[in-house]
Amino acid sequence: MTDDCIQQKSKTSKIKDFGGLLETEGLKKISEHTKEDCIFCKIAKGDIPCNKVYEDDKTLAFLDISPVSKGHTLVIPKEHAEKIYELSDESSEALAKTLKKISKAVEKALGCDFNVLNNNGEKAGQLVKHVHFHIIPKQDDTGFEYNWDSKKYEEDEDKEILEKIKTNLQF
Ligand code: 5GP
Ligand code: ZN
Repeated sequence: MTDDCIQQKSKTSKIKDFGGLLETEGLKKISEHTKEDCIFCKIAKGDIPCNKVYEDDKTLAFLDISPVSKGHTLVIPKEHAEKIYELSDESSEALAKTLKKISKAVEKALGCDFNVLNNNGEKAGQLVKHVHFHIIPKQDDTGFEYNWDSKKYEEDEDKEILEKIKTNLQF
């Protein structure tokens, strides 16, 4: 159980002491933190084995079970969230640090360049609904294949899209 989980549990007990009304809400937060039906939560808890590369209190890195190339590694937060912006700042910061550490190790170990990929949502290719970053070594004939289908903006279309994105920024 992570420190955050323990904190959530103690919050729940405190809430219960104040009449029990909010107990359900407290429990809901715990179950959202690690989802029962999430394969990566199970791996993070050690309920399902993995080829573990690295672990700390907030993150885990392990070999992908169906590698695109040899050394294909997944880096995940232990906190359950589906999309990157749903993660707590604490987990995001820890994840960024682990990503840096593991990508350097993978590059050194495999002696090649690499792609970092993070899918968000089904249409973007996300099969496992728990934030994860792929580190995919780009060996001569294996690795992540991509083909940019570059487009052009219509006149002023770029400005319109720019404004739309900027008005949706939340800090
Ligand atoms: P996505 O398409 O969601 O970005 O990628 C999910 C990745 O998780 C896939 O590359 C898949 O091979 C990997 N994966 C799914 N289940 C397991 C598992 O149980 N163990 C490991 N090590 N990798 C898994
Ligand atoms: Zn999960």
